[in-house]
Amino acid sequence: MYSSSFPYIKIGVLGGGQLGKMLCQAASPWNLQIHILDPDENCSSKFICSSFTKGHFNDYNAVYNFGKDKDIITVEIEHVNTEALLQLEKDGKKIHPSPSALNVIKDKGLQKLHYQKHNIPTSAFRLYENKKEVLAAINKQEISIPFVLKTRTAGYDGKGVVVVKNINTLDNIPDAACVIEELVEIEKEISVIAAANENGEIKCFPAVEMKFNPVANLVEYLFCPAQISESVSKQAEGLAVSVIKSYNLCGLLAVEMFLDKSGNILVNEVAPRPHNSGHHTIESCYTPLGSTKMKSASAMVNLLGEPGYEGKAKYIGIEKCLSLEGVKIHVYGKEQTKPYRKMGHVTVLADTLSEAEEKAKFVKETLKVTA
Ligand code: ADP
Repeated sequence: MYSSSFPYIKIGVLGGGQLGKMLCQAASPWNLQIHILDPDENCSSKFICSSFTKGHFNDYNAVYNFGKDKDIITVEIEHVNTEALLQLEKDGKKIHPSPSALNVIKDKGLQKLHYQKHNIPTSAFRLYENKKEVLAAINKQEISIPFVLKTRTAGYDGKGVVVVKNINTLDNIPDAACVIEELVEIEKEISVIAAANENGEIKCFPAVEMKFNPVANLVEYLFCPAQISESVSKQAEGLAVSVIKSYNLCGLLAVEMFLDKSGNILVNEVAPRPHNSGHHTIESCYTPLGSTKMKSASAMVNLLGEPGYEGKAKYIGIEKCLSLEGVKIHVYGKEQTKPYRKMGHVTVLADTLSEAEEKAKFVKETLKVTA
């Protein structure tokens, strides 16, 4: 569709964190220009984008003015001003993912209702407006402990998620509109990244398995292929295809799922953009549309800020890791580290998954981000 103007298309990206940086890196071999809007002029994309505009992706005027001279606008974060995107769409701009899908995805309550409406399996849930309503619902035995509480908006990387296992945890729940979900007995957390083009052609990357840091509740390791049966992996891919179709999206959609102890697959949440569960594909897979085939088994370790350190980031042990075969280090360039902040990631390619896993564990123990 753009072949006549390729590669002279101006692409605007809302957000310039590490995911925006990865978009710039992916676009560079095609000589596509990526223009970034971010409130932080020291954001990860600053040295690599074609131009940088300082402004908040949540602010109507900042987004609208940024989008006016672009051909295509996309996002690397879903918490953006969709009103401005809707206006830009009316003005004739291409917006991927569509602002209407973004409106649903950025609200975890609307996401759950969307899955219910489209018969997509997800954990049982109820929606509440505030803490008072949640406490009243417990009194009425409408909901029972244990459960998981998630604030509807602005949560990410485990922030805004509270697992309520006993009465005492209730003191810690936020006073905000929230989703209450039944606590799933999780066997494995998996993710499938689906990619769709404007013609509705869809491809999925192989399912990956995510291991979470128990303290910070965010991804620490990722393994590809996921250690699941062929039939579970087929089901997960089928589900990812149904989900991307249900949102009518063009672009990438990471579909995070739970495989529960009874073998059911439930959709947890989605992200319509580059996602942590796809970082390994940079080195370990061919690209979509085209082929999403795996070239090699891989593991990915998130480089999280070491607990106990806050300040200008230092990378300890990097040389020892660089000398290992198959180890690819990505540093995001965030100046300040703090406990569990995502500062970079390392992909390990190997002939077997267990070899990749072993090297990834070595990297985790050797490469530390301190201050
Ligand atoms: P975030 O948007 O912060 O990534 P998630 O919805 O992915 O939030 O939740 C973070 C983590 O909390 C999940 O990866 C999972 O480990 C746990 N979790 C979330 N929902 C449930 C649930 N219903 N049952 C059990 N664990 C859950």
